[in-house]
Amino acid sequence: MKTPHNIKEVVKSHLCIGCGLCTIDKETQGIQLSHKNDCLVPKNVKVSDTSLANIICPGKGYDIKGTGENLFANEAKYSLQLDYINSLYASHSLNDEVLENASSGGVITQLLLYLLDKKIVDYVSVTQFVCDSKGVHTRTFLTSEKKEILKAQGSKYCPVNFDTLLDDLHQKSGRVAIMATPCVIAGFRKIQIHQPNYINEEKSDENGNYCLYETPTNLIGRKSGSLHVTIW
Ligand SMILES: Cc1cc2nc3c(=O)[nH]c(=O)nc-3n(C[C@H](O)[C@H](O)[C@H](O)COP(=O)(O)OP(=O)(O)OC[C@H]3O[C@@H](n4cnc5c(N)ncnc54)[C@H](O)[C@@H]3O)c2cc1C
Ligand code: SF4
Repeated sequence: MKTPHNIKEVVKSHLCIGCGLCTIDKETQGIQLSHKNDCLVPKNVKVSDTSLANIICPGKGYDIKGTGENLFANEAKYSLQLDYINSLYASHSLNDEVLENASSGGVITQLLLYLLDKKIVDYVSVTQFVCDSKGVHTRTFLTSEKKEILKAQGSKYCPVNFDTLLDDLHQKSGRVAIMATPCVIAGFRKIQIHQPNYINEEKSDENGNYCLYETPTNLIGRKSGSLHVTIW
């Protein structure tokens, strides 16, 4: 298959994952997402090839090995199957409240709670199912509240749209940890590279310094402005 060069080709080739990150660009504020096969895909995609949306779209593909090399080559070992890793552990939460609704040991939820409890981040992103007049869909947003984190437990095996998270990231300031599947994280990493000040432009004095990665869901943490990411 030919690699798509822009959002239009991504949608046409059925490679759109419905992440909504293409709504980031001022030039593409006009992009409307519409439902197609239970996935929100952009419908008006006439944006220039040099627009940020076209550059960061994860549906175009991304350099998995090269990104890993840039981020982790000095501190982790490479494995063809697992990418760059420091070490592997089998683990689960020790908290019964977290374990009750966990998908797989509640590690993600426990880590999010830990990050907030230790004040390593100010907000974490969570994805909840919502059932309203539009039917069943997901909502991804920033929170610092335990009850929202617990409510978000469980894997959402469906396309998840992050355009509402982009809004939150623009409005809130502080450190955040973003939880998403690897392809969506790839899109956020492209944003970090091509528009590092997009999120919280007013704060740019410190580096982001953590990343939690779990296959296939993963987390990135950042401090506004510059975005050095390391596996934790
Ligand atoms: C689409 C998808 C496919 C997966 N496929 C596999 C697989 O093939 N093999 C495997 O071993 N594991 C897979 N997982 C991972 C597994 O299902 C659990 O999500 C993971 O082990 C975390 O479990 P937990 O108990 O630590 O998390 P929990 O305590 O249950 O918390 C889950 C967290 O993930 C967030 N979340 C859930 N779904 C999404 C989503 N789609 N996008 C963004 N955030 C989300 C929630 O907001 C919550 O914070 C998949 C997960 C997803 C989302
Ligand atoms: S950025 Fe996401 S929603 Fe937009 S075209 Fe690319 S994959 Fe689809």
